[in-house]
Amino acid sequence: MSANAESSFIGIDLSGLKLCAATVSGDGKIGERRETPVQREDLVAQVTQVVSDLRQTASNIGAIGIAIPGLVNRQSDRVISSRFLPATVRGDLHAELMDKTGLRVELENDANAAAYGEYKIGAGRGARDMFYITIGEGIGGAIILDGKLWTGASGFAGEVGHITIDTEGSECQCGNTGCLETVASAPNIVRRANERLNRDSTSSLSKLATNKDFTADDMAREAMEGDDFAMMMIERTGKYIGTGVASVINLLNIERIVLGGGVMAAGDLILNPIIQEAKQRAFQPCFEATKILAAVLGSDAATIGAAMLARDASGEQG
Ligand SMILES: [Zn+2]
Repeated sequence: MSANAESSFIGIDLSGLKLCAATVSGDGKIGERRETPVQREDLVAQVTQVVSDLRQTASNIGAIGIAIPGLVNRQSDRVISSRFLPATVRGDLHAELMDKTGLRVELENDANAAAYGEYKIGAGRGARDMFYITIGEGIGGAIILDGKLWTGASGFAGEVGHITIDTEGSECQCGNTGCLETVASAPNIVRRANERLNRDSTSSLSKLATNKDFTADDMAREAMEGDDFAMMMIERTGKYIGTGVASVINLLNIERIVLGGGVMAAGDLILNPIIQEAKQRAFQPCFEATKILAAVLGSDAATIGAAMLARDASGEQG
């Protein structure tokens, strides 16, 4: 047993508009939290400040893990691309933070960090291999094989949001048409619902018809309160996701699939059609070996996962 058993770690999630930071114990429990709007052009100073602030609350911080909304090369510790935080590509966040804090720093892609959190202490616990899908503003994925993130030849493995679901579907931001993301991400669920409301007069009975600016969260809430139209749209969304999940199952024969992100807030109303559709479409022996579960760490997944990556990286070094 190394000294890390008693150490705490700092996990930081930079994937949203807010910087979410927390101290995380060696067994994955969150202690102190800090949240503040991300200062995109002054990140090093901001992260240094948050770390120093959190260190006042815990004397035994072992390392820092940071979830980045972009592509991270874990060998060189450089951010290769990031649409939301371009400053992390221009500068050397990793080297500057190590220098400023004197602590070991681990950077990881945000979906990978969230996957690792679920794998270590969430819905993936106990599995050897896991596929993680996060469905929110976009759709991301991550593959964990034998305890390790498997990121592929150039870091993009697990891009399940860009599996083609409908060859004649809408154009995706990736350039393809009919990707899973074009029907099942939060903005696209809202788009589909609006299109349907416009052409189908019976759906005007839905509460959503009276709210011009409804969101995917509103749809999930109305569905859970029994709104037929919202329930139908959520169910159809689940079927699209289940179609993608079936491909993942056939390809990987993977032990566990964990689904997280804001769209999963609809709970069983979306999870059940996902499982049903995957069952219908996947190769049966593969499907039978797979457990499909909702994520359990919510919006803390990336923060906790980044801290667990920092924990395990410092453990490996001894
Ligand atoms: Zn795409």
